[in-house]
Amino acid sequence: MSGGVAWVWDPNGTLSAELVPASVELGKVNPAEEHPSYPGEVQDMLDLLQAHVRFTGSTVAQGLLDRWPASSAEFARAYPVDFQKAVEKAKESGKPLPLGTMKHLLPTGKKNKVLPNKPRPSVSKPVVPSSSSVDIEDLGKFMKGNRPKKLTDAGVIEKSLHGFVELDRAELPKRNAAERVNDFQEVLAERDELQVMTQASRCMDCGTPFCHQSITEKSGCPLGNLIPEWNGLVRAGAWHEAWKRLMSTNNFPEFTGRVCPAPCEGACVLGIIDDPVSIKSVELTIIDKAYEMGWMRPTPPAFRTGKRVAIVGSGPCGLAAADQLNKMGHLVTVYERSDRVGGLMMYGVPNMKADKVHVVQRRVDIMKQEGITFITGKAGNIGSCITLDGTDGLETGATANQVLDENDAVLLSVGATVGRDLATVPGRDLQGVHLAMEYLTQNTQALLEGGDVRSSWRQWWGGGKIEPIDANGKRVVVIGGGDTGNDCIGTAVRQGATQVINLELMPMPPRDRAESNPWPHWPVVFRVDYGHEEAKPLNGGEDIRQFSVTTKEFIDDGHGNLVGIKIADIEWVQVGTQRRMQEVRGSERVLECHLCLLALGFLGPENPLAELFGVDMDQRGNYKALYTQGEMDFLTSNPKVFAAGDCRRGQSLVVWAIREGRDAATAINRSLVHEGRHFRELAMQNGNSQQIAAAL
Ligand SMILES: Cc1cc2nc3c(=O)[nH]c(=O)nc-3n(C[C@H](O)[C@H](O)[C@H](O)COP(=O)(O)OP(=O)(O)OC[C@H]3O[C@@H](n4cnc5c(N)ncnc54)[C@H](O)[C@@H]3O)c2cc1C
Ligand code: SF4
Repeated sequence: MSGGVAWVWDPNGTLSAELVPASVELGKVNPAEEHPSYPGEVQDMLDLLQAHVRFTGSTVAQGLLDRWPASSAEFARAYPVDFQKAVEKAKESGKPLPLGTMKHLLPTGKKNKVLPNKPRPSVSKPVVPSSSSVDIEDLGKFMKGNRPKKLTDAGVIEKSLHGFVELDRAELPKRNAAERVNDFQEVLAERDELQVMTQASRCMDCGTPFCHQSITEKSGCPLGNLIPEWNGLVRAGAWHEAWKRLMSTNNFPEFTGRVCPAPCEGACVLGIIDDPVSIKSVELTIIDKAYEMGWMRPTPPAFRTGKRVAIVGSGPCGLAAADQLNKMGHLVTVYERSDRVGGLMMYGVPNMKADKVHVVQRRVDIMKQEGITFITGKAGNIGSCITLDGTDGLETGATANQVLDENDAVLLSVGATVGRDLATVPGRDLQGVHLAMEYLTQNTQALLEGGDVRSSWRQWWGGGKIEPIDANGKRVVVIGGGDTGNDCIGTAVRQGATQVINLELMPMPPRDRAESNPWPHWPVVFRVDYGHEEAKPLNGGEDIRQFSVTTKEFIDDGHGNLVGIKIADIEWVQVGTQRRMQEVRGSERVLECHLCLLALGFLGPENPLAELFGVDMDQRGNYKALYTQGEMDFLTSNPKVFAAGDCRRGQSLVVWAIREGRDAATAINRSLVHEGRHFRELAMQNGNSQQIAAAL
């Protein structure tokens, strides 16, 4: 379109005059004959097409340019009659014509010529630099797999502007699998700053970064992390600035940098034609460096509002809300029924993925010094819920009414802790069949009581209050994939299982994105996580997963102990609009097994707490709360009670829990301080910059 004139590429002449309003003249472009009131038409079209190719790389437009000017005859012209009159009037009075208004955007000089027919790099082709000075023999070094992953000169990295062409992707290295299965220390190896700076230089600074925003719930970073900004700062070695940017959107990058599945990387624009930037590695290195440098220190708020908020549940959601509300100056008490703070970051995600003492507790300690009160164990068990340590659930902490009376607002962030079971499968009650969370929680508790996660861990493990479930010397079957299943596999291998097999009801995911799963959505593809890698040697070097299988029976040894599992293959058939599962005849078989772990996901939060706080449930069995991206999101049917995290959205991810905790804190703050006015005034009078930022 130029000024008021639109050209429509209409090679088959199907654009009908009926589609165009009567006030517009529809005609064919004729390169051999100038339009009386628009003599430069064909040149303007050419300019626009060239600009389009330059800005978008359109192969269709390039094809038209290659056949120019003949291809101009394939265009229909829509010329508004009034605009035509205005052009003619301008011509008569000698004024400049109101045509070709995009010309100022077009490239000038040599570049304004018709572009050569150069194909764009496609997924299957290697990315090569466009420079014509590159020798054909050198092109191989720009092919994926041949490029360096690490540069050793920080000065060179800082100046590197084409890292996405010249460098291969690399994630933070893991320790060798054979070595790491001997202990429960983190699987990640030592940080490598130069490698991470090199990797940050692969960021294209693409202008419309899909990585840093969740356009849909399946793409990009839910926290809105300022990824291109910190990539640029890390490339330049400005770590402190990068850390400040990171902390402005994420309360716990040390959690997400370790455990987040990184939907940001699935939405990275570079990922369309090459491997995405290793964003999560950059995030983790920034925050780990911040701890090393002593930048992460307690910064208590400069004043208190006098308002009290109770947070029930200390997972990443409750902790993020506590951190935000405390920064705003409110008095925050976090209640946690487990003996340690952290929710599933403490007793769910195992130590080898995120260290409990040096990562989770380290952060909780800072929060304590900033003035947040934590009440744990029986005293922290709100309402008459069952305690995780199996002691009587009646001897609990404050009642719901006490919590409501003593506080100005309450946030329920109690997670989705009811595990899905196979209660109807015969033999479920045999010795040796357990829910994954029983197994993982006990193992971590025993490690923490023993105080040793190095290769000598077993010396002290299990000597304390609890007798943990032990996979040592057993054949183990884990039913269910996902993070929980993988964590069970990694734990069983470390405990000394002789074999670990993983059963999955769903079919094996594809190696590459399916058509129904396009960029920028999270790619649902076959992955090999740390546990799968570690268990392979116990299965003759083969992958341990069996897909599309159903569990038919747990088999008894005659004394109430598990000795095997009867399984069968299934296929998924389409019945009307639904996919149904159908057993494959003759595929029934028995797997020898002494310990079976059920990692089948979670049904939702426990019900009693909702009743006690007068909170309605939604249709899926979660706590019902507003979620409209509006002001009072997370408010439940009780006007003093908010709900966020897994108990509101169902089992999800740490990064979503943090996001909901942050947003719930904002909503609670609004409700407490009359749309924030009172707090803003206080912040401006007495607060530090952090508090003022939180208030605005
Ligand atoms: C084994 C496992 C591995 C996982 N791995 C990953 C991963 O790698 N990456 C990822 O992003 N996500 C992972 N997840 C999911 C992630 O951990 C959760 O989505 C996230 O922790 C939810 O946070 P939350 O704060 O909402 O709830 P939670 O972390 O579940 O915390 C809720 C807390 O509330 C406490 N509570 C409950 N009732 C009461 C009560 N009445 N009184 C006091 N306290 C109470 C609970 O004890 C618990 O500590 C994993 C989950 C599991 C189970
Ligand atoms: S929190 Fe997760 S999604 Fe966000 S930048 Fe970090 S790794 Fe990516």
